[in-house]
Amino acid sequence: MQYLTVLGATGSIGDSTLDVVSRHPERFSVFALTAHTQIAKLASLCETFKPRYAVVADKPSSLVLAEQLQTVSPDTEVLFGEEGLCQVASHPEVDMVMAAIVGAVGLRPTIAAAEAGKKVLLANKEALVMAGDLFMDAVHQAGATLLPIDSEHNAIFQCLPEGYQTHTRMGVKKVLLTASGGPFRQTPLAELSAMTPEQACAHPNWQMGRKISVDSATMMNKGLELIEACWLFGLTPDDIEVVIHPQSVIHSMVEYIDGSILAQLGNPDMRTPIAHALAWPERIFSGVASLDMIQTARLDFEAPDLERFPCLRLAMDAARIGASGPAVLNAANEVAVEAFLAGELEFTGIAQVVEEVLQHAELPEPASLDVVQACDLAARQAARDIIRERSGKH
Ligand code: NAD
Ligand code: MG
Repeated sequence: MQYLTVLGATGSIGDSTLDVVSRHPERFSVFALTAHTQIAKLASLCETFKPRYAVVADKPSSLVLAEQLQTVSPDTEVLFGEEGLCQVASHPEVDMVMAAIVGAVGLRPTIAAAEAGKKVLLANKEALVMAGDLFMDAVHQAGATLLPIDSEHNAIFQCLPEGYQTHTRMGVKKVLLTASGGPFRQTPLAELSAMTPEQACAHPNWQMGRKISVDSATMMNKGLELIEACWLFGLTPDDIEVVIHPQSVIHSMVEYIDGSILAQLGNPDMRTPIAHALAWPERIFSGVASLDMIQTARLDFEAPDLERFPCLRLAMDAARIGASGPAVLNAANEVAVEAFLAGELEFTGIAQVVEEVLQHAELPEPASLDVVQACDLAARQAARDIIRERSGKH
């Protein structure tokens, strides 16, 4: 039996994870579930999965949840705050941690899981983007196993040679990171600034949380993924080619020096990479239907247009700058996306805010988590100031 903590259990990745887990009760037992605001949903998940712990944001919500659990899951203990998250991520009885909190707030609990030597199933790409060096150090020092959940990185992992080590190339020439291009791939450029949160969140192929949906519309998501791939697989930005593939059937590819290109294909459903990582190195049923090749009929590819998707360019720049560039990029983006979702910033303002923050930020070497967190905070403040100033002018 494998004991699993799901950080971010009430989100889109949390849903898909628990769907796969519930198909294999003989393999997986849920040890802890965490949520931020959806207390009622967490209570109902506790009723189904009877975890040892449930974690919420703060003391008041913990009291509300504890009250609700009295009848439906009385043995579940309720914890709260970052400390509670770190505790259930690193608890000695936990084997696997699904890191599916969205954004920088997932950093410390995810690192705690790595430091405790767990099998870490990483969906929370922002954590790796912010603190890749420290994160990978923690993984190596503690002998943790890091398995990518992001569909592209999971595909790359599956296409890399067995026993692939990041320090030897083993014949790998480059990685082809595929991107759908999101909902605005063909929207006339002049109309982009008027796009609403609802339009941005209507992704053509994937059902996801709102933050990553907006990131897909700006293609910042692909930029974060490029940085994520550099850390996971020991690559430089020049080893990675971003390819737009609107059908999202190929989830990414690896090219070898002999001219072979290996791809991983499947229906766009996160339960496939989740099941892959949960059972790795075995394979289990995920609930995902077979991909019908005849119905799929065609696979299209095009180059990304950096004028349409300036966020992708900015992320590539941040990846090349290194140091705390990616942490600053990520923090400014999180604030800009929140402002866009709140109706306080136009869609095209997201890239402008991120660019302005990056231009003026100090970018020290991220020598410790405290340095990373300080850069994150400063970039957030800078982004908020820029957004406030812009809304004053309009
Ligand atoms: P979501 O918005 O649906 O869910 C986010 C989860 O994080 C929720 O459970 C929420 O309670 C929790 N959370 C939010 N703020 C929190 C806070 N301050 N403290 C503690 N918990 C908090 O997001 P999602 O789509 O499930 O994405 C989760 C992560 O997985 C993101 O990093 C995203 O980039 C990554 N990811 C998602 C997908 C996808 O298909 N949804 C694919 C690849 C990667
Ligand atoms: Mg992805």
